[in-house]
Amino acid sequence: MKHYDAVVLGSGCGMEVVDQAVARGLSIALVEPGLLGGTCPNLGCIPSKMLIASADTVMEQERAERLGVISRIEHVDFASIMIRMRASRAESQEHMEHLLTHFEGVETYRAHAAYIQPQVLQVGDDTIYGTQVFIAVGARPLIPSIEGLEDVEYLTNESVLELTEIPESLIIIGGGYIAVEYCHFFAAMGTRVTLIEMSDRIITTEEPEISATLQSELSKRARIVTGTMVTSVTRAGKDLRIHARSSLSGEKSRFDAQQVLVAVGRRPNADLLRVEKADIRIDENGYIKVDSHMRTNQDNVFAVGDINGKSMFMHSANAQALVSAANAFDHQHVEMDYSAVPHAVYSYPQIASVGLTEAQARNTDRDVISALTPYMRTAKGEALREEVGFTKCIMDRNSEEILGFHIIGPHAPILIQEVVNAMQSGGHLDQIARGIHIHPAMSELIPSSFEDLV
Ligand SMILES: Cc1cc2nc3c(=O)[nH]c(=O)nc-3n(C[C@H](O)[C@H](O)[C@H](O)COP(=O)(O)OP(=O)(O)OC[C@H]3O[C@@H](n4cnc5c(N)ncnc54)[C@H](O)[C@@H]3O)c2cc1C
Repeated sequence: MKHYDAVVLGSGCGMEVVDQAVARGLSIALVEPGLLGGTCPNLGCIPSKMLIASADTVMEQERAERLGVISRIEHVDFASIMIRMRASRAESQEHMEHLLTHFEGVETYRAHAAYIQPQVLQVGDDTIYGTQVFIAVGARPLIPSIEGLEDVEYLTNESVLELTEIPESLIIIGGGYIAVEYCHFFAAMGTRVTLIEMSDRIITTEEPEISATLQSELSKRARIVTGTMVTSVTRAGKDLRIHARSSLSGEKSRFDAQQVLVAVGRRPNADLLRVEKADIRIDENGYIKVDSHMRTNQDNVFAVGDINGKSMFMHSANAQALVSAANAFDHQHVEMDYSAVPHAVYSYPQIASVGLTEAQARNTDRDVISALTPYMRTAKGEALREEVGFTKCIMDRNSEEILGFHIIGPHAPILIQEVVNAMQSGGHLDQIARGIHIHPAMSELIPSSFEDLV
C-alpha cells in the first residue's frame, strides 16, 4: 500500500487542495478518472458561458432597435460556436496536464477511487492511504425516472456540448439555472425551445419577482410551461414525444421536438466512491455530511465542493477547499461562512443574488424592510433604456444590516460584487453609502436601491 500525506479525490476544487499541499512540500495522490479540472472548465461553468456569450451577442443585436439602431443578423454559425467552446476546453485540458507534470510531489491516478476504509482507497490496481483524505468527487446529472426516457437518446449538460448541428426544436425538462441558461442559448441560436417545469414557476430558489420577470422575458423567445410534470417519453417519427400532466388539474398534454435536454438537477457521486464502506455519513439525498470545518464524521477525512451539497457553485467549492486545507495542514479551526456567498444565472436578462430572500429574512425575528428599484432609476439605466431590470434589496430596519440583495438585468453578476464585499466586511449600509460612485454608471443602481428602502 502506498502512503501519502494527502489523498485528493477529484480534480475540480480538489486542485485547490493540491496547490495548498504542494506549497507545503507534502506528498500527494490526486485521483481523477475523468476530465482534468472537473465539471466547471469541461462540462459546466466555462463551456456554457462560452456558448452564452454568443447568445448574448444575438440578443444585443436584436434589442438594439430600442436605442434607434436597426441591425440585422446575417447568420448564426452554430457549428463554429460549438467548435470554439470545444477547442478552449481541449486547451484547458492540455494546460492542466502540463501543470500536473510540473507539480513537485504529486502522483496522479487516472482511475475511479473506491473506499476500503476511511483513509484507505482502491484505485485501479493500487491501494493508497492518506494521512489526510479530501473527497471532492462532485456530482453528475440527475436523471429522473420517466417512463421511456432510457429507451431514447436524450441530452444532458455533458452531451449537449458535443452537438455539431443546431436542433430545429428542443424540449428542456427542468426549470433550474442550467435549464434557463440553455433555454436562452438555444432560443438565441434559432432553435424552437419548449421548457417544461413541474413547479409553478421557474428558478424557484430566486425571488418570486425575479423568476416571474425571467419567465416573462424568456416567454417572448421560447415556450415556457410551468406546473407540468413529464410522465413519459416516446418516439414520434423523427421526433421525440413528451407526455405530460398538469401538476394541479391532472390534465394531460404532449409536446414534440427533435431533441430533449434533461436538466432537472444534480446527484452526488458518493455512491460511485462507495463511501458506505468507510462509514462516512451521507444525508437523505446522498450528499456527504460535513461540519463547518468541512470535516466528515471520520477523522482526517474532509468533503468539499458539490459532494456535500451545501452550496453547489465553483466559487463555494474552491472556498471550502481552502478551508479544509487550512484545517488539515495547519491544524487551524477555520469555519466556512456562507452568509455572503453570491451566485449568478447567465440567462437573459442575467440574475445575481446574495444573502437571504425576503421570505427567509421575514422568517427571522428581525424587522425587515425591502424595496424594488428599476434600472431606469439611474441615469445610465435610462441612457441604455433598460426597462426590465431591477434590484430587490432586503435590510434590517433597526441595525441597517444588509440581509440580502437580488438583481435581474444587465451585468447583474458584476454589480452584485459591491454588495457581497459590503456584506463580508460587516454588512452595514454604510459600507455602500460612503463610497463615491461614478456618475453616470450602472453601479449607481446599488446605492439607489438602498435609498428606496422605506
Ligand atoms: C451546466 C453547468 C453550469 C454551471 N455553471 C456554473 C457557473 O456559472 N458558476 C458556478 O459557480 N458554478 C456553476 N456550475 C456548478 C459548478 O460547475 C460546480 O459547483 C463545481 O464544478 C463543483 O466542483 P467540484 O470540485 O465539487 O466537483 P467537480 O468539478 O464535478 O469535480 C469532481 C471530480 O471528481 C471526479 N470523480 C468522480 N468520482 C470519482 C471517484 N470515485 N474517484 C475519484 N474522482 C472521482 C470527477 O471525474 C470530477 O472530475 C455549473 C454546473 C453545471 C453542470
